[in-house]
Amino acid sequence: MKNIPYARQWIKPEDIYSVKRALGAQYITQGPLVAVFERLVAAYCNAKYAVAVNSGTSALHIACLAAGLKEGDEGISSPITFAASTNCLLYCKAKPVFADILDGTACINPEDIKKKLNRRTRVIIPVHFAGHPCDMQEIACIAQKNNLFVIEDAAHALGAEYKGSKIGSSKYSDMTILSFHAVKHITTAEGGIALTNNKRLYERLKLFRNHGITKDPHFLGKDHGPWYYEMRELGFNYRLTDIQSALGISQLKKLDFFLKIRKGIVNEYNKAFSQCEEIKPLEERNYVRSAHHLYVLRFDFKKIKASKIDLFNEYRKKGIIVNLHYIPVYYHPYYKKLGFKKGVCPNAEKFYEEALTLPLFPKMKEREVIRVIGATKNIIKKFNRSKI
Ligand SMILES: *Cc1c(COP(=O)(O)O)cnc(C)c1O
Repeated sequence: MKNIPYARQWIKPEDIYSVKRALGAQYITQGPLVAVFERLVAAYCNAKYAVAVNSGTSALHIACLAAGLKEGDEGISSPITFAASTNCLLYCKAKPVFADILDGTACINPEDIKKKLNRRTRVIIPVHFAGHPCDMQEIACIAQKNNLFVIEDAAHALGAEYKGSKIGSSKYSDMTILSFHAVKHITTAEGGIALTNNKRLYERLKLFRNHGITKDPHFLGKDHGPWYYEMRELGFNYRLTDIQSALGISQLKKLDFFLKIRKGIVNEYNKAFSQCEEIKPLEERNYVRSAHHLYVLRFDFKKIKASKIDLFNEYRKKGIIVNLHYIPVYYHPYYKKLGFKKGVCPNAEKFYEEALTLPLFPKMKEREVIRVIGATKNIIKKFNRSKI
């Protein structure tokens, strides 16, 4: 039996055709297809401006730079995320501060954000964990009262909706970032984008993507000549290529279809596990539409009388490559060295003890879904029997 990965991309012949054509075009680095891809993603998400970059991490970095983060500033995010969500603060010499998660959704708890605020706080980076939007209205309210930037890390949430508005529309934030890494909803192999409705932030995002260089006559003042450009900030080379954009444009056409399959699989899992008292799926609020990036189960290890390692090994023995999202960011040695200690976010730490991610991806076959459900039930049963 073939192994079932926890996630994988779905590249179809038309995607390959589209990339082939891009390879034969005049521009293969940042060219006209990048602009087309930006326009399409912005339109899909209902945002005014989009700046495509070579990864979601780069998008987070230029978003922090556009917000003007610097040494001495603090940013608040959740520890249940990929390290990139707070590494972007460190890139700017700002200090990450972690607010705890809500038990039901594993998204950041606005009440704990309030507790972690101080006069150095400049930005909140909510992460729409597993595709479920955070409480954006409350977060926007905190930001407004305290004059903070909000950068949504929507790497998991392309296609999600919050109270009727698309994630990415940045209705409750200054900027939103997406990732097009292979495991995300649509892929450009590596890639990301920053979305905003603010013209000034848009200009800054573009500047930081491209070495801090501008050729825009609006910024240059007098006409220096056709060769002329200026480097105005210390930017980076974070450009996406036209080859990748060709893939992104083609993938975007399938996004709603992919989202529908993800939702179908999640419904099937939820239904199958509703009778198992040893496991608990994440909750879904009735005012959101999740993008269902990950299917996370919380195991009651006291009830099933097994350790997480036992559980992982059982799944992997059956060819089901389960995963864990995430190790609390501040558990990592680099963060420990910065002075972070256990106990900062008790809910997140408990979540880490209990969580496990089952396979979920559009290319997953019905029989694979059934195999995962069967294996989950069997593993729980086996542990229950063996330890009594
Ligand atoms: C994937 C991911 C990122 C980073 O995206 P890359 O494109 O891999 O750089 C950031 N935040 C979260 C929550 C992610 O899952």
